[in-house]
Amino acid sequence: MSTYLLNDRFVKDDEISISIEDRGYYFGDGVYEVIRVYGGTLFTAEEHIARLYESAAKIRMQLPYGEEEMKHKIEQLVRDNGIDEGHVYVQATRGAAPRVHQFPGEDIVPVITGYTKAYPATASQHEPVTLKSVEDIRWMRCDIKSLNLLANVMAKQEAYEEGHYEALLHRSGTVTEGSSSNMFGVKDGVIHTHPVSNFILNGITRRVVMECCTELDQPVIEEPMALEDVYNMDEFFMTSTTNGIVPVSAIDGKQIGDGRPGPVTEALMAAFDRKLPVPVESK
Ligand code: PMP
Repeated sequence: MSTYLLNDRFVKDDEISISIEDRGYYFGDGVYEVIRVYGGTLFTAEEHIARLYESAAKIRMQLPYGEEEMKHKIEQLVRDNGIDEGHVYVQATRGAAPRVHQFPGEDIVPVITGYTKAYPATASQHEPVTLKSVEDIRWMRCDIKSLNLLANVMAKQEAYEEGHYEALLHRSGTVTEGSSSNMFGVKDGVIHTHPVSNFILNGITRRVVMECCTELDQPVIEEPMALEDVYNMDEFFMTSTTNGIVPVSAIDGKQIGDGRPGPVTEALMAAFDRKLPVPVESK
């Protein structure tokens, strides 16, 4: 039976009960993180935990214990569940209270839950995927990793139903990011990606990719791409914690480059894989 994190305790499935009045359930009033585990080691844990506390602060929510303790708890959860390859999910809601929109009183404490999921470690996926562009109808605080994912869910479903792997979100023709990923185009050897702002999540994988770019002397322009320009990119790829770097072969049915991962994407995938805690086999 799996072990779960519930506030400051470790509990089994049958010991968990979450109130129907939890504000995460009513309002999506909470924040979350997903952290990869490679060879039993958390990857970029400090960055993810820092972002969790930043997201919480941005929604004016104070977590009952600090980042250091959170890291220890997450590490223990990974150990208790014997996770070698997989991820940890952790979320914090504002707590359980009768349903009114305004914050509950001071006596209501956040509810923290966490679980682990095991799956095989793979190196960056070389098999390219396709995207469908979808209007980005999310709110103006996409920098917060909030539980409110309805617009992301709707966009992903629209892409998925048409056989695509991910939705390429754009605001009136300006590309922002994916429904659960950051997006990068390559034109004439230069990478283009949306700058860090309130319109995108500052992805941890994005940050690792930027580090790789510095190490490889790979030029990057952090400016929004126009949707009409992405079709003419030489290469395109997306990044996320769960999937690392994923090459894109076509957007809206239009082939990118020759439809295969290009040299810039390949070099970044190799550089990214070298940063992982354990060597992983190519897919
Ligand atoms: N943007 C959105 C909207 C996401 O949900 C995610 C996945 N968490 C990302 C970008 C990628 O972020 P990260 O690399 O930290 O997983």
